[in-house]
Amino acid sequence: MEEYPLTVPSRSAVRVRVPAKINLHLGVGPLRDDNFHDLATVFHAVSLYDELTLECGPPGVRLVLQTPDDDVPTDERNLAVRALTVLAEYANIEPAVTVRLRKGIPVAGGMAGGSADAAAALIAGDALWQLATPREKLHELAARLGSDVPFALLGGDALGTGRGERLTPLTHPYQRHWVFVTAAEGLSTPAVYAESDRIRGPVEASDPEPVIKALDEPDPQALADALCNDLQAATLALRPELHDVIAAGEAAGALKGIISGSGPTCAFLVRDAAHAQQVAERLNYPTKTAHGSVDGAQLVTH
Ligand code: ATP
Repeated sequence: MEEYPLTVPSRSAVRVRVPAKINLHLGVGPLRDDNFHDLATVFHAVSLYDELTLECGPPGVRLVLQTPDDDVPTDERNLAVRALTVLAEYANIEPAVTVRLRKGIPVAGGMAGGSADAAAALIAGDALWQLATPREKLHELAARLGSDVPFALLGGDALGTGRGERLTPLTHPYQRHWVFVTAAEGLSTPAVYAESDRIRGPVEASDPEPVIKALDEPDPQALADALCNDLQAATLALRPELHDVIAAGEAAGALKGIISGSGPTCAFLVRDAAHAQQVAERLNYPTKTAHGSVDGAQLVTH
């Protein structure tokens, strides 16, 4: 049997907060040989958060969901559990931890909640086990766990290429404000990609440059005009009722409505926080308001 060195963590618990993402631009290229799509995407981290607490526990990785939801697995299918297993293997330690997960990010909503939890678990495990893992190594482990995980570590705004894991940070001084309409029932991301391949065929990803330019413009209307999602037609084909949601948000005064990632969450860009409240109140759908961009997965120290 393999011998694991003994690690005695001197921290007894750590807490990490991690944001959701939306894609201001989601350019989807043809299906690659490895079954991933080449992407040209602009990620934007928004202030809807999951919170993950990690404490020493019995041998193994036990996950307790503090916001019960039948759609979130608590075994090794949960990306937070997978992330801790991968980190422990890398560090050559035997994990003995309990994870408490509080979901604030819509589940299967196209906002990368599972990926966010994987990133949070990497940061939390690194802190609890006092590993001081180099940032590049964390990024590498993150990319192994999923295409959206590296961005959840980084946060802010970033251009994502490859399958979304190759990141170039985009810096600008402007905060953007959003209203999200969430759906009770999530959508399977692979099903949306399959529908998109069927509808669009093997076409090139659309160009993210207009969104990158618009991020430098103070007027949110410039960004509204540039927002683009190559998956939107597929999501709308699978959920035609989202046409009405987008129309309702724009009729309520939003500058522009777009499907978030693979959906079914709809993201509405608005002028400011007061405008977000106003648009949300006018909508007869479940809404959440948020701003962006915000930092990636972070230890909460208080
Ligand atoms: P994707 O990142 O693939 O675009 P998404 O953002 O639409 O997905 P997620 O909230 O990540 O959706 O959930 C997708 C599925 O992943 C869920 O239906 C669930 O079965 C599984 N899952 C695994 N780990 C988690 C987690 N920590 N939180 C939520 N769902 C998870």
